[in-house]
Amino acid sequence: MDPNTVIIMLATHLICSGGLYYLIGRGMPPRSGLRLWSAGGVLFGSAYIVRMLAGRDVAAAGMLTADAAMVLAACFFHAGLRQFLGRASWRWLHFAAAVLLYAVLHLLAVQLWNIVGRHVLLNVTLGLIYGAIAVEACLARAAQGRALASPLIVLTLVMGTLSLLTGARGFFIGIHGTEVVYRGLYAQIYYSYASLAAVLLGLNLVWMVFARLNTQLTELASRDALTRVLNRNGLEEVLARHFAERATRPVTLMQVDIDNFKRINDSHGHAAGDLVLREVAGSLNANIRASDFIARVGGEEFLVGCVAADDGVARALADRLLNGVRKLEVMLPGVKMPVRCTVSIGISRRCNERADWELCWAEADRALYAAKAAGRDRVMAAGALPPPSPRDAVPLRSPAPG
Ligand code: GH3
Ligand code: MG
Ligand code: MG
Repeated sequence: MDPNTVIIMLATHLICSGGLYYLIGRGMPPRSGLRLWSAGGVLFGSAYIVRMLAGRDVAAAGMLTADAAMVLAACFFHAGLRQFLGRASWRWLHFAAAVLLYAVLHLLAVQLWNIVGRHVLLNVTLGLIYGAIAVEACLARAAQGRALASPLIVLTLVMGTLSLLTGARGFFIGIHGTEVVYRGLYAQIYYSYASLAAVLLGLNLVWMVFARLNTQLTELASRDALTRVLNRNGLEEVLARHFAERATRPVTLMQVDIDNFKRINDSHGHAAGDLVLREVAGSLNANIRASDFIARVGGEEFLVGCVAADDGVARALADRLLNGVRKLEVMLPGVKMPVRCTVSIGISRRCNERADWELCWAEADRALYAAKAAGRDRVMAAGALPPPSPRDAVPLRSPAPG
């Protein structure tokens, strides 16, 4: 196929993809990366067209403009990816410096090596930037969660291959001259792959955006908006999973309730109460192990699941939770003295031996009532099977002195 036809198709695709990212990006936060990808797509496509119109006259100002625009567009893609991944991205000054540096190198290369220098410089520079994008995507894979792993692998492969082909193109031009840019097998291979890569990248970036949105939606549906711990939805899913595997992963449930929380609301207002709730949830969350889980199951009530633990481990965990909250000092706006609070905890042990988790939860709740009745700020555990009443509750630890 005539290279110009391929270039026009490639340019059209890049410009349309840029437009699509712009439209999708309008509904996304400003630093989601989509605006930079959009600018990159439109700029790259336009640069291809300008370059085609500028012809092969090395002195044409359009050539420098088109080459610098391509390099800038590739930098936009790299910066957009970093933004998307939540990493520190490029600033405008960096883009300006990159373009300026490229313009100087371009003039130098043309001076020293005429049109061959210009092509070698452009291909080597683009190859390096594509390589940086591939490395960025590859390194981010582990940190970005399961949903993004597959599109990041595709991005790594597509950009890695494009990087190698573009770098090799610069090398071939250096050896054989500029004819390999437009004619012969290598030009065919290069433009075919570039067109394929443009299509794949367009689809892949949309895949990345949807994978991210899907994860965020799942997260929103399963997390409590105030405290960021699991909500009832998320809890039911986690409980169902743990109880399905309960032969291998026993669970101890703990019902945690903030003591006299109404007083905090009454003395300092509802907003202050919210702040205390967030701090308490943060403390509980910080004191459980990675395998455990925590959910907000009522106004100031939390359910903690202690996974794969014997009574001793559960006891130690409950102590940690109790002490963590005791140590909290919540500073409220306009209040000099920090607000302190305590929690009471009711435990249901050996949940893996029960038919269903609702039974255990009710048992933990009864133990919690016993802890409240016994004076609050303590841990009480329900007795062993058969199902206990509050009278079976036994103290796991005594309240802190003073
Ligand atoms: P106890 O030690 O017996 O648990 O006493 P308590 O005051 O903590 O319990 P009570 O059930 O009487 O009061 C719970 C309070 O929690 C009442 C309600 O206004 C408050 N509450 C529930 N949800 C929220 C919330 O999202 N934010 C705030 N600020 N308060 C909440
Ligand atoms: Mg309470
Ligand atoms: Mg309560």
